[in-house]
Amino acid sequence: SGSSTKDSLVTKTFLKFDTVIQLKLYGDEAAEKHLGDIEKLLDRIDQQINMSNPESEISRVNSAAGKEAIKVSQETFDLVKKSVEYAQATEGTFDPSIGSLVKLWRIGAGGQHPPADHLIEQAKSLVNYRDIELDEKNKTIKLAQAGMSIDLGAIGKGYAGDLVSAYLRQEKVSSAIIDLGGSTIMAIGSKPGGDVWRIGLQDPDRERGEQIAIVQLRDETIGTSGVYERYFIDNGIRYHHILDPNTGAPTQNGIKSVTIIGGTATAGDALSTAAIVKGLQEGLAFLEQTPDVEGMFIMEDNKVHVTSGLQGKIKLTSPEYTLAD
Ligand code: ADP
Ligand code: MG
Ligand code: MG
Repeated sequence: SGSSTKDSLVTKTFLKFDTVIQLKLYGDEAAEKHLGDIEKLLDRIDQQINMSNPESEISRVNSAAGKEAIKVSQETFDLVKKSVEYAQATEGTFDPSIGSLVKLWRIGAGGQHPPADHLIEQAKSLVNYRDIELDEKNKTIKLAQAGMSIDLGAIGKGYAGDLVSAYLRQEKVSSAIIDLGGSTIMAIGSKPGGDVWRIGLQDPDRERGEQIAIVQLRDETIGTSGVYERYFIDNGIRYHHILDPNTGAPTQNGIKSVTIIGGTATAGDALSTAAIVKGLQEGLAFLEQTPDVEGMFIMEDNKVHVTSGLQGKIKLTSPEYTLAD
């Protein structure tokens, strides 16, 4: 198969996962059906994992924390299992049991002041991915401590992205861009005719759509986490939505955003969050020794640091940023 120049462009934009989803696909008469199927797939994942929907599988697991094991779908089980594996691989800098802290800080959900220290300590004591008990045979999940909760906000969009790309492969679609709110962007195949996709990377300080660099991709995934979209400011300090499980507070380490190029979308989502928590030096070193992925760190001083595989390959399009050497 492969797309021919006769293929036409179909697009679809809608809200899901609290963000704007943009689908762009070149194809034949089946293309409209593909867009509809993708929307249904994203709906299904959202219904399984959305913490703010009390009926979701994850909410049911959270409600039963400290009490009982809850049977979930194969998809949800796989996602939680993968999340625990990423927590292990990142030494808990990415931790899917971060829910108690997320609920306490309420960043982007009405929170305006840092919570009292003793409340942070209490919520932090409930964050521990080792207390997520997975029963592979019965497909059940149990949270060992009462009050614990799973929050898949830092990996769910990536996981959904991988399911979309598996669907498109199965349907033999060879030319598409799947953009899940700017933080997971998947280039499927190439442009019709074979040209690479040119994807703009968001400038953390600007409106949506303003770019810091352009990357050329073929069949590749980009995952970005940044401290610029959900936050409140208190006493001149910006408290954003990426929390360090070790301190129980938003990171304050000079990083504005981390972009991961390569690997799966799940990896890009989980590892970009983990890299922010690790900080520049540790984060770079961690990505260097992780196969298949490269990383780009944008710092508050507007210096851009990249892993060795990206050196000489990133061209900045904004004069405000410079590449660190
Ligand atoms: P984005 O919102 O752009 O997808 P992330 O992928 O980094 O950014 O996800 C951030 C969300 O993940 C937060 O809103 C919160 O729900 C959750 N989260 C925050 N800190 C962590 C962490 N250290 N590990 C796992 N999840 C986290
Ligand atoms: Mg993430
Ligand atoms: Mg994300």
